Amino acid sequence: MDQLLRDTFVKINLDNIAYNMQKIREKVGDDLAIAAVVKANAYGHGALDTAETIMENGGDLLAVATLTEALQLRKCYKSYKILIMGYTPDEYLEDLVINDIIQTIFSLKQARLLNDLAVKHNKKVSVHIKYDTGFNRLGFKDSQESIDEIDQIFQLKNLQIEGMFSHLALAGKEEDHLQYKKLINAVKQLEDRGRKFKYRHICDSIAAINYPEYRLNMIRPGALIYGLKSYQDDSFILKQAMTFKTKIYHIKNLKKGEGVSYDYSWKANKKAVVATLPFGYADGYPRNMKDKGFVTIHGKKAPIVGVICMDQCMVDISHIAEARVGDEVIIYGDGTNNTLSIDAASKLAETNKNELVCRISMRTPRVYIKNKKIDKILNYL
Ligand SMILES: *Cc1c(COP(=O)(O)O)cnc(C)c1O
Repeated sequence: MDQLLRDTFVKINLDNIAYNMQKIREKVGDDLAIAAVVKANAYGHGALDTAETIMENGGDLLAVATLTEALQLRKCYKSYKILIMGYTPDEYLEDLVINDIIQTIFSLKQARLLNDLAVKHNKKVSVHIKYDTGFNRLGFKDSQESIDEIDQIFQLKNLQIEGMFSHLALAGKEEDHLQYKKLINAVKQLEDRGRKFKYRHICDSIAAINYPEYRLNMIRPGALIYGLKSYQDDSFILKQAMTFKTKIYHIKNLKKGEGVSYDYSWKANKKAVVATLPFGYADGYPRNMKDKGFVTIHGKKAPIVGVICMDQCMVDISHIAEARVGDEVIIYGDGTNNTLSIDAASKLAETNKNELVCRISMRTPRVYIKNKKIDKILNYL
């Protein structure tokens, strides 16, 4: 097993990911497909190293945003179905044909091009049609013209049209319902013309829990898999998969009036003890946690003091007399024992949980836990 060469690392609990997948599967039943979203390196959890756990515990296919993410997975996993939910520019389409990746399509022109490439390689390429029901990001605009164009895509012999989907803006119950209705109407119009979709889907994590009636026969959860909760159902409990840890590198005593970090943006208003910790914004920790964030040492909260540097930050440990160099520091915990959960941290940093975890950088090693034991240490660098 690789050695951990840094004290700052994230621990990824694969048992929790397995648990979450099983809970999601239990919640939605066996009659629908789960497109497990593993874009952005599985939200920082490591796409290659979580994919198997996800697929063995209820995932039906892996969904990513980009061709590069799809190819990374394909190199390791020959048999998993992989869907790119984003746009792939024309000049890269051939790569996905060769590697049997499923592509999202929202123009007749690109569908034709993809079909030509499929013919060239003597393959059938699967696609999902993206239908824009109001988000105004990607998709065929909701119109009669679009229905006609989608109908024409069905005539392309080397494309296998597997699905039709949309994405909710989650702007409110009424708005969401309107979006859902637009998708259903479009699907119905096409079905009336004899066109069939194996999969129809519109639900991400939040919608899959908040709107069971919109699940159709596929859902696309991301956050849920990693135990990040934003939905309203308090009885549905998942387990956060990631914890973020480091160790104390240095401790010093400050006299009243001494400053800490750039600009001396924090000054000791009395004698203080300050610890230096080896993580900073280059590890993905939000720089705006200054004056708000805290870490946990010996079960006690230690507030961040001074500006957060690229690689280090300082915390006030005046009240933690037992703290020594080398002691464990919890940056993000599960929220118990005075730890800052990812949910709470995202609120402090004024962002969402997904951003907080996906920004954890390659410099931070990942330690995988499986069957309660360390299964793998992954140094990206
Ligand atoms: C990222 C993404 C998802 C998953 O979102 P979560 O909120 O993490 O569940 C689903 N669908 C699309 C189109 C996405 O881009």
